[in-house]
Amino acid sequence: MIPENLLQTAIQAAYFVAAFLFIIGLRQMSSPVSAGRGIVWAGIGMLVATLVTFGWPDLGNYTLMTAAIFIGGILAWITGKRVQMTGMPQMIALYNGMGGGAAACIGALELLHAEQHGHVVLALAAAGGLIGSVSFSGSLIAFAKLQGLINKSFIYAGQHYMNAALMAAAVFLGVWFAWGDVPGHLLIAFFVIVLLLGVLMTLPIGGADMPVVISLYNALTGLAVGFEGFVLNNAAMIIAGTVVGAAGTMLTQLMAKAMNRSLANVLFSGFGAQQEAGDDVEGQMKPIEANDAAVMMAYSQKVVIVPGYGMAVAQAQHKIWEFVQLLEERGVEVRFAIHPVAGRMPGHMNVLLAEAGVPYDKIFDLDEVNSDFPQSDVALVIGANDVVNPDARTNKASPIYGMPILDADRAANCIVIKRGQGKGFSGIQNKLFFADNTKMLYGDGQQVCANLVQGVKQLG
Ligand code: NDP
Repeated sequence: MIPENLLQTAIQAAYFVAAFLFIIGLRQMSSPVSAGRGIVWAGIGMLVATLVTFGWPDLGNYTLMTAAIFIGGILAWITGKRVQMTGMPQMIALYNGMGGGAAACIGALELLHAEQHGHVVLALAAAGGLIGSVSFSGSLIAFAKLQGLINKSFIYAGQHYMNAALMAAAVFLGVWFAWGDVPGHLLIAFFVIVLLLGVLMTLPIGGADMPVVISLYNALTGLAVGFEGFVLNNAAMIIAGTVVGAAGTMLTQLMAKAMNRSLANVLFSGFGAQQEAGDDVEGQMKPIEANDAAVMMAYSQKVVIVPGYGMAVAQAQHKIWEFVQLLEERGVEVRFAIHPVAGRMPGHMNVLLAEAGVPYDKIFDLDEVNSDFPQSDVALVIGANDVVNPDARTNKASPIYGMPILDADRAANCIVIKRGQGKGFSGIQNKLFFADNTKMLYGDGQQVCANLVQGVKQLG
């Protein structure tokens, strides 16, 4: 029989190993080349942390724990297998919300046993309960919006005052609990308030801003898990929660910065909730046939491809890569230009192109590639809109003014693949589509790329 204190030391040591594996995994996820391995390392870390937890002396409830892991594991496996790349943000929202909810449940349980804890632990349990609950209910609303289950954005007068009042009430109750007095009815009131706060904070935010919000809730879930880790004296939870909190905060800032928006503007302005003005563009869009576009690019020297959200919707990454390979066989130099917020989540385009087998050395970030456009014969825009909108450079009244864009308009010719007159995420018109050197190649991204492939093949 292993002595109890030795067992506990061994478990804590295993938690450190698990946390170390999380950090290695996260490090590897920073590059598409090693990201797959990173997920495996982090998964092994989670497996270690889960298994050793069963070794705690006097744990009990083994059947419930095993059943929960079994049901959760099967559901996660099925949804993970089925989810489309474009559905990834809402799946992350859902999983992330569960993490926040789990942290809040730990907080609730520890507050129920307030007599066993000191003031600091109770304050941390309440803080974790507050943040985890906001993240839980907010993430569920984010999921519903991205999934199209909620299509309206509820903007009403005085919403910020309402949220501030709920927050003040929750903090007041949290401080009360930290004093050691946790009456059952006030505990219920506390969780009703914080769950409502998550709902009311998220409802007014436009569906298209949800990825930033999800990233923020991800950071909050990490923080809540870290707090509850202190409460349970669990090293793996403290380290993993802190790492998730820090990574989520940085990602949130990066996304907001790439859109040239402040986080406050994302959270409180209701941007993307209404259709924005700015449709007074003069001129006409000029269509082009796929065959003509294929010939134009086949006889070019340099082509830059700008993928956007529409490429993800159309799942056109394989066909566009087939087209690019045909161009390269003809001696055309082709590069992919990736805007940091193209698509609907960070790295969206990189993941799709990697899935199609596009080598990493053909994929360039905005800073690396923008100087290429003026020397290019054709900029081929596939399903991108806002990230190539020149209004961001010049129109101070535009909601995207100041956002760095890919300079597709500076290429000698620009060909835009899209289905029709649909607007982008910001809901505004794009002058690029009306420019003299722009031709519109209408149709679903995948079908159009298949036509382009045929067009080049016919040239022999
Ligand atoms: P946009 O959303 O601006 O435009 C997408 C375009 O794709 C639409 O104009 C649409 O036009 C076209 N499209 C849709 N479906 C298809 C299809 N099947 N085939 C061909 N075209 C299609 O995309 P961008 O990538 O340019 O910009 C991303 C936007 O999302 C930015 O404004 C960014 O700020 C925002 N955002 C990005 C986040 C991220 O992390 N990446 C996070 C939050 C917001 P049509 O309907 O006519 O086909």
